[in-house]
Amino acid sequence: MQKFGIVGAGGAGFPSYAKLAEGADLLLVNGSECEPLLYTDYIILKNELTIVLGGISRVLYHTGIQKAIIAIKAHTALALGFDDGKELCDKVFVKVLPDVYPIGDEVSLIYEATGRLVKPGKLPITQGIIVYNVETMYNLGRAIRSSKPVTKKWVTIGGDIEKPVVIKVPIGAKISDIFKKLNIQLKEGYTVLDGGPSMGKIINPLTYAVSKTTKGILILPNDIQAVISKKTNIEMAVARAETACCQCTRCTDMCPRNMLGYPLEPHKMVRTAMGVAEVMPQMVLSATLCCGCGICESLACSQGISPRAVIENYKKLLSKNKLRFDLPGEYKVREEREYRMVPYKKWMSMLGVSKFDKMAEYIGEINDFERVEIPLSRHIGAPSVPVVKDCDIVNEFGLIAEAGNGLSLPQHASISGIVTLGGDKIIIDKVR
Ligand code: SF4
Ligand code: SF4
Repeated sequence: MQKFGIVGAGGAGFPSYAKLAEGADLLLVNGSECEPLLYTDYIILKNELTIVLGGISRVLYHTGIQKAIIAIKAHTALALGFDDGKELCDKVFVKVLPDVYPIGDEVSLIYEATGRLVKPGKLPITQGIIVYNVETMYNLGRAIRSSKPVTKKWVTIGGDIEKPVVIKVPIGAKISDIFKKLNIQLKEGYTVLDGGPSMGKIINPLTYAVSKTTKGILILPNDIQAVISKKTNIEMAVARAETACCQCTRCTDMCPRNMLGYPLEPHKMVRTAMGVAEVMPQMVLSATLCCGCGICESLACSQGISPRAVIENYKKLLSKNKLRFDLPGEYKVREEREYRMVPYKKWMSMLGVSKFDKMAEYIGEINDFERVEIPLSRHIGAPSVPVVKDCDIVNEFGLIAEAGNGLSLPQHASISGIVTLGGDKIIIDKVR
């Protein structure tokens, strides 16, 4: 997996080879597409199931795991014609999940698909589970078939546009170039996100390029909750929390991690903004248990407070100091969880994106890019280290950067052309 440059295609970009630890008895393939408006995994399952199954079979063979589950939401299962429990091939079964948010969060996904609870601060392997995204399994299956590394990315282009699509583009393709090729004009008063409306981040399409973790690019109007929450200024959010929180606890009552029995209580985190952090430092550590789903901010709080932003602030500080929650204890899923899960449609409506939810259509590969800018550090771990220099000529699939020390990945040319080193990226221009 490392030599093909395969990284978790559905999340933070964890190098996939590093998950192949011993002690697992289940491979869980995440096809739940947690975020609204994204259809990338659905299209891959619809069009390339055989290759996905090839990747899964290879992991099963390599690890000796006897069973794999592909977990998908009910609406995706309906569209694909898959029933719960369907055997797709030897040892590989479908698990249909409820249409709730945030079911794709790894801890929620594992609990819902298997009934196993990953303890706070621990990895899935502690429950005997390896989790990969559908596209990661596609990338592995394709790499095995072709003996070629990953150089292309499946991406949903959606939001407030006439026809959402899924395309396959070279890694490093600039978002503005993709928009040009799709005849998409960016209007005044709109924001572009890398990722979904709940957890995606605001990007500048003129400078931002597709990476191995780009799942979707959304164009959304500035006046909907999905965008407003991302433009929240952290200092303002903390100041507002200090003055406006009435400690009603609704944010904690609806927090999906709290419902799973995790000791994360957003209402108390908001209170720490008032200085309690000094006397309750352990509670601040629980910020690292937050999955960033935004339910506390966009659905629970009626005072316009963003516990998520307050917690995000703590997470940054804790990460800088390499601190995380790691306390042993007995954790039990709350009985009321079942009744408090947020229906997917309600979540879309809270974010203001229901009217943009149209099934995306796959329109094929777009390859004729004049330039790509391949990021060297948009994965977890050490940045990749260039093995090419300015003015080198490279061919598609050629190695352009090797894995750095420790956890890291190599990078490969996604088009043929001439190299320019650009700091945290390698630029390749097509030779005319
Ligand atoms: S829901 Fe809002 S007002 Fe209530 S405790 Fe949470 S942050 Fe405070
Ligand atoms: S964003 Fe809020 S609701 Fe979601 S996990 Fe974090 S604290 Fe809980």
